[in-house]
Amino acid sequence: MAKKVSFRDKLTTVDERGRRVWVHPKKPKGRFTNYRRMVAFMFFAFFFIMPWVKYKGDPFIMLNIIERKFIIFGAIFWPQDFYLVVMSLLTSVVFLLLFTVIFGRIFCGWFCPQTIFMEFLFRPIEYLVEGDRREQIKLAKQPMNANKLTKKIIKYTLFAVAALAIGHTFFAFILGMDTITGFYRDGMFHHTSTFIPLYLFSGVVFFIFGFFREQVCTIACPYGRLQGVLLDKKTILVMYDYLRGEPRKGTQKEGLGDCQNCMDCVHVCPTNIDIRNGTQLECINCTACMDACDANMVKAGKPKGLIRYDSEEGIEKGERHIVNPRTIAYSIVLLILLGVLSMMFFLRTDFETTILRQKGTLYQVLGDTAVSNIYDVEVINKTRNKYTIDVKLLKPKVGEIKWLTPKITLDKGEIGKAKFMLILPGNELTSSNVPIQLGVVSKGKMIKVYDISFVAPRK
Ligand code: SF4
Ligand code: SF4
Repeated sequence: MAKKVSFRDKLTTVDERGRRVWVHPKKPKGRFTNYRRMVAFMFFAFFFIMPWVKYKGDPFIMLNIIERKFIIFGAIFWPQDFYLVVMSLLTSVVFLLLFTVIFGRIFCGWFCPQTIFMEFLFRPIEYLVEGDRREQIKLAKQPMNANKLTKKIIKYTLFAVAALAIGHTFFAFILGMDTITGFYRDGMFHHTSTFIPLYLFSGVVFFIFGFFREQVCTIACPYGRLQGVLLDKKTILVMYDYLRGEPRKGTQKEGLGDCQNCMDCVHVCPTNIDIRNGTQLECINCTACMDACDANMVKAGKPKGLIRYDSEEGIEKGERHIVNPRTIAYSIVLLILLGVLSMMFFLRTDFETTILRQKGTLYQVLGDTAVSNIYDVEVINKTRNKYTIDVKLLKPKVGEIKWLTPKITLDKGEIGKAKFMLILPGNELTSSNVPIQLGVVSKGKMIKVYDISFVAPRK
């Protein structure tokens, strides 16, 4: 009994003396692994191909956090749109929390880049070079010899190539693939401020997947640490049906439960836990134990699903309650955030303009009765095209605009400022604060209409 509860007292990847226990998971096979492989394939296709795809001369996706310029599926978002990025991130976090409350750590097993790269890129390389679990353990126990050294060199060389590919692709998402390839053409030593971080990042990737591995999920990942407060008895997780499985084979009441005590669920586990001990923080819901156990159930002539997606309540009472007060509250918050986000995207304009009367000035009297005011205009062009901006007087009908600076001409993403004088004749000056209407125009199209005031002498 003492042995059964002691699993919570220590990490399964650390021995009694505090040394790392290297995990050699058995190659998983089965229905869920195949589905996850398909998800991983789509992820790799997206990750490695997308930085090469262009739309109207720009990358199709670019996440330039340094200059706060983002291109998402061809749509450009400038620093002025950064609030949209913040809102999108906030919405994603709430979505992930809601998703976790209902479906547990499913994200970790199916969609997290750490798991996908580890299980479907680096681990397959390892299986290819060093073989499956049994061969890997045998190799690990061997003293260093020519065969072991050759395998380690081949494995870590391939790991380094993969890490460099990930590093370059990651930086291409930030700076654009053209920039990276252009920097290589110029010579790496001319762009050390880019290449030093890029190679350092690739080195970190190499270290994580080569050595740190599952510890990212079991020790470092903040999302993993949140599980304790997000999961409840209704959350769907990878669960062992102890009612059906126990007492397992090899115990005094052998044969009463379905568990064959084959340990395959433990041997395939990338975090080295025994799911039969119950829900554990280290479980990344990777489904490998589900596949392994299903294969054993088939061999033993028993129904599949001894380890399956279920909730604690589902196992205990055979009930599943996805809808509960917590999921309803999260859904409402999520819907509100999605509504606000959609509204912000919908109201986003191609230009941002401001017209303000020049600070510290009032008016000038010209000739007998005409009066002038000076205005500052600022325009941000958020489109890909070149525009020349004009300002038109809409109300009153009579009046004259004189540019004190050249008119604004803007290339894509540029910000322009200019100054103009508005002259109104005396018969339009009905008060000391005349309401006027100005329109910002480009290529014959009204961009924005301003209702502002024109200051005149008191009558
Ligand atoms: S217990 Fe199962 S689902 Fe959880 S990490 Fe281990 S193999 Fe994956
Ligand atoms: S794989 Fe299934 S049958 Fe084998 S030990 Fe695990 S739970 Fe028991």
